[in-house]
Amino acid sequence: MRQDLVMLKSGRSQERSNLGDLLRHVHLEGSLSRSALAERMGLNRSTIMALTAELTGAGLVREELPRETGRAGRPSLVVRPETDRVYVLAFDVRVDRLVAARVGLGGKVLDRREAVRQRAGADLDDVVGVLAGFARELCGQADSVCVGIGAAYCGMIRPGDGMVRFGPDMGWVDQAFGTELGQRLGLGLPVAVGNEAHLGALAEHERGVGVGYQNLIYLHGDVGVGGGIIVGGKLLDGDGGYGCELGHMIVNPYDGRPCGCGSRGCLEAEVGERALLDAAGRSAELMGHDGIRAVVDAAEEGDEAAREALRRIGDWLGIGVANLINLFNPGMVIFGGMLPDIYRGSAAQVHSRVAANVLVISREAVQLRTAALGDDATLIGAAELAFAELLASPLDALAHSALR
Ligand SMILES: [Zn+2]
Repeated sequence: MRQDLVMLKSGRSQERSNLGDLLRHVHLEGSLSRSALAERMGLNRSTIMALTAELTGAGLVREELPRETGRAGRPSLVVRPETDRVYVLAFDVRVDRLVAARVGLGGKVLDRREAVRQRAGADLDDVVGVLAGFARELCGQADSVCVGIGAAYCGMIRPGDGMVRFGPDMGWVDQAFGTELGQRLGLGLPVAVGNEAHLGALAEHERGVGVGYQNLIYLHGDVGVGGGIIVGGKLLDGDGGYGCELGHMIVNPYDGRPCGCGSRGCLEAEVGERALLDAAGRSAELMGHDGIRAVVDAAEEGDEAAREALRRIGDWLGIGVANLINLFNPGMVIFGGMLPDIYRGSAAQVHSRVAANVLVISREAVQLRTAALGDDATLIGAAELAFAELLASPLDALAHSALR
């Protein structure tokens, strides 16, 4: 290739990457002035102005006066995302509920639908049918554009096509979830599917309590326990995308409880919802978050069986956390899903294990925190997955969406 053509090509790919970077800054941080953008991106203000003009022309951002400057003189314009115009569809398939949302550029949940469902017996067709019905209610606003679709699922997901390889809590094996949902939606866009705990980790890293931490561990409790590990700002996903199954770390192999994966003494078998309810002698009563909260509340009111159950579960949770801190030296460990409740009732045991079993140097700075995004961490993660293509190459992604 001729040298001038090579330079032209690399110049265009640099511009595409700059457009994506600028859009990512306003998507994650909200309204920013041109000078703040120039500082964050290491570019001069005229380049920022040109990039902003391109994104404004495409309808992705707008420039406006800031709401309140608190300073005298003419305020400088801020660049803000077109939240109401540009959106993604995000879905979250949880063990006991289905959630769908329209999430605007900038990360705001604009509208949502939710259905509680029976835990057992939902087949692919049922789940996809409910989600597609929700999508029809959420889409269709005039002068708005759907730029991506993302879904979180509580199981092991093949990254390329969203195939659920193994979803033990719903009994799914090799179900073509991503493809089926995409066809049923009929929007001409592919559905990016991710493991719920991986997406929860990304969401807490980008928008939650983990902002600014480049190395963190997110533990997500539902009926099972999943996890996501961020190393150097990136999710550790493994060779096939199936990594970070922290719930199946074996902590009690000799006399541990049987696990849904077929093994014994996995972390999820020892700290999951079933283990806590069994230990507290409440097997036939409330389940899910309500069941967990009932045990924690009872312990706070002095119920000795509930206290003992939380001590036991907290000890196993602490062993798991101690192993993870020793292995990965994270800056933060985040408890999400139903684990914040368990941690609330067992923090003393968790801290005691960390003090006893983590190498001194590795525990000097590590923070233990609960998820800032609460139950929405996985849904917000699905939305971020859906925005990924737009943020990588804004104008190309927008052109694809408009053609469909
Ligand atoms: Zn297991």
